[in-house]
Amino acid sequence: MTTGFVFHELYLWHNTWNWNQVFPPGLTIQPGTHAENPETKRRLRNLMEVSGILDHLVPIKPRPATVEELLRVHTPGHVAKIREISDRGYGDASVLTPLGAGSYEIALLAAGGAIEAVAAVMAGTVDNAYALVRPPGHHATADVGMGFCLFSNAAVAIRHAQQALGVGRVATVDWDVHHGNGTQSIFYDDPSVLTISLHQDNLFPAASGAVEENGTGPGEGYNINVPLPPGSGPGAYVEAFEKVVLPALHRFRPELIVVPSGFDGSGVDPMGRMMVNSSGYRAMTKMLLGAAKDLTGGRIVMTHEGGYSEMYVPYCGLAVIEEMCGHYTAIPDPWDRLMQQWGGMDVQPHQTAVIDRSARLVQNIR
Ligand SMILES: [Zn+2]
Repeated sequence: MTTGFVFHELYLWHNTWNWNQVFPPGLTIQPGTHAENPETKRRLRNLMEVSGILDHLVPIKPRPATVEELLRVHTPGHVAKIREISDRGYGDASVLTPLGAGSYEIALLAAGGAIEAVAAVMAGTVDNAYALVRPPGHHATADVGMGFCLFSNAAVAIRHAQQALGVGRVATVDWDVHHGNGTQSIFYDDPSVLTISLHQDNLFPAASGAVEENGTGPGEGYNINVPLPPGSGPGAYVEAFEKVVLPALHRFRPELIVVPSGFDGSGVDPMGRMMVNSSGYRAMTKMLLGAAKDLTGGRIVMTHEGGYSEMYVPYCGLAVIEEMCGHYTAIPDPWDRLMQQWGGMDVQPHQTAVIDRSARLVQNIR
């Protein structure tokens, strides 16, 4: 397999300032580093260099998305607001989404990186691609930047595939621990894009990502949520793939699969309460690659989302990229075996109950 890789140093220069998870009033606690900071991304990129896997990937140079490309997904008011805050030098896109000078230009480069990844895959320059972009995108709706996300990188890339490259049906499979609410809302009434999100039940945003959210109008049936209980491990995720994701993909028959890829479902992430290890991400990647081989000619693009463990995101990302390109490094993951010994890594009955509810939605895909 030939795997493309999108990265740019400027992705790491997006300034999210300081915080303490929440913004405490007054002088009540020393300010800390924002959870969505460059470190996890930089360390993944650096492990890829040290492990040698970068030499087996095809670099894809990102470019800034044009305003016209953003407007396929976002409102003019939202684009103008992000630009205004960025030009001012500081501010918040809405809630918990601080940005700094130049963040607008960097966000354009992130969305454009996702576009270029999709373009390379559709052109056949590469078989599949991983876009290690920042800021992330899957919480951004048409008119609101939220949850550290400014523009919806995946949605902008999907609309580019459809409107500039002639692609018809696109499926997204979002395994970030948080609900992919932005992607869901952008395509909620659109039967040409199947949106699937596996996430921790009611984590972020609040009251978002329930099984009942199944699409609307002509898009009814084309949004599937799997709100897994906290504590779900690789067993639950693999069962959700077997019972929900793969049957849904085979019924929908996409021409392209886009994966908003967050690693905050890992067993040591500070922002999620799940227990996925690198073997779990590896298993999910293998299943998606198998589906892509059957359905899309192997065309699959991953766009980077969350993941807040400086120590563990690099291992999880490396495992995914190893599977995508078929080159295996000699880097051992010391946490993988440790987590395999934890209780609850296999699927539990209360997790199966949720998965079975989501599985019943597959028949709504026509
Ligand atoms: Zn997340």
